[in-house]
Amino acid sequence: MKQYDVIIVGGGIHGAGVLQAAAAAGHSALLIERQGLASGTSSRSSKLIHGGLRYLESAQFALVRESLRERAIHLRIARELVELKPFFIPVYRDTRRRPWQLKVGLWVYALLGGFDSSTRFGSVPKREWSGLDGLDVNGLDAVIRYHDAQTDDALLTRAVVQSALSMDAELAMPANFSGATLCDDGVIVTYTQGPVTVQCAARVLVNAAGPWAPHVAAAIQPAIPIPDVDLVQGTHIVLPFAVNAGIYYVESPTDGRAVFVMPWYGATLIGTTETPYRGEPDKVQPLPEEEEYLLAVARHYFPAFRHLTREHITQRFAGLRVLPAANQAAFDRSRETIFSTDRELKPRVLGIYGGKLTGWRAAAAQVLDRISKSLPAGTRRAATDQLILRRPE
Ligand SMILES: Cc1cc2nc3c(=O)[nH]c(=O)nc-3n(C[C@H](O)[C@H](O)[C@H](O)COP(=O)(O)OP(=O)(O)OC[C@H]3O[C@@H](n4cnc5c(N)ncnc54)[C@H](O)[C@@H]3O)c2cc1C
Repeated sequence: MKQYDVIIVGGGIHGAGVLQAAAAAGHSALLIERQGLASGTSSRSSKLIHGGLRYLESAQFALVRESLRERAIHLRIARELVELKPFFIPVYRDTRRRPWQLKVGLWVYALLGGFDSSTRFGSVPKREWSGLDGLDVNGLDAVIRYHDAQTDDALLTRAVVQSALSMDAELAMPANFSGATLCDDGVIVTYTQGPVTVQCAARVLVNAAGPWAPHVAAAIQPAIPIPDVDLVQGTHIVLPFAVNAGIYYVESPTDGRAVFVMPWYGATLIGTTETPYRGEPDKVQPLPEEEEYLLAVARHYFPAFRHLTREHITQRFAGLRVLPAANQAAFDRSRETIFSTDRELKPRVLGIYGGKLTGWRAAAAQVLDRISKSLPAGTRRAATDQLILRRPE
């Protein structure tokens, strides 16, 4: 039976990150992915590598600081994949957050980002409003500009896996994890590849199966603790008209929630929603009312979009956030990553629940830290904040 230091289930951004971090630390590692890289949540995000300006309102300062640090690292190591973009927040007479409140928030954002050049912000002068993609200027009091970064989440995931494979990590895909048995100092893992059933051993199994993580955890014997999480669906739509100047960060006219209107491969991507989800993760799909909600945003802010209906939508996709179970609205819940192990000392299983695209590298570093006592000493090949990520072919 083949033996690895680490076996990872799930080829989303977290699985990719742990594979890379394990290989960079000199460990043997195998990633098992059922469908394709980034076929789950990691191709259905808002594609932002950002500090998360709105998390300041829920006082998640540590998360914002870490995310801004990760944004800066991406802008250095993933130049072919991550781009700093202007973000515009239009403030109308009836907008909830006033310009001074936004500027206080952006000052804190800049402080947490170390006041580097990417944290500059200010108002867009009135004479430049005509360059804002036809944004409705009726009742417009101010437009605040700051900067955050955009990526292609699926390409980023593939780039991280590519980096890991170049350091001798292995990939089984398509391959379906079907179960695992814990032993004293590791775990026996079973997966299927087509008609073939494969068994291999690992010191640690990392469950990076995103919204499927509770299913993967439930297939481990003897049973391990599974954190209590909720799934919350988020939908995006693509409209066949391009916004070019940057990313618009607006309040939904329906309920005041923050929604992004973003340039996306010559078209416009709008998202997202927050709809509690109780079904099978495989079955998630955009709901008609979510599409109407997002269309209402486009119509409200861009007069040129007023004639658009659901028939104009060229692409639609829904992903699932994994959030700590609570009665609170999804919008206000912690976005910190939850790490769950089968035991405190020398864990044999570590599950990653929730988290952010932006934080994949920091999350992977934390995983390696938490499982290091279970692993043999490896000869470190590289630090992941120095590994350049190339745009995959
Ligand atoms: C609507 C939405 C918008 C978001 N926007 C942003 C954003 O703009 N910026 C940001 O930083 N974060 C954002 N996020 C968060 C971010 O997208 C997620 O945290 C991240 O993509 C989760 O990645 P993951 O690797 O944990 O899970 P996933 O990407 O879902 O990967 C899990 C993988 O496991 C595989 N799998 C499942 N079961 C098995 C099995 N039995 N065997 C083998 N493989 C299996 C699946 O096929 C899948 O590929 C957003 C999330 C959502 C839902």
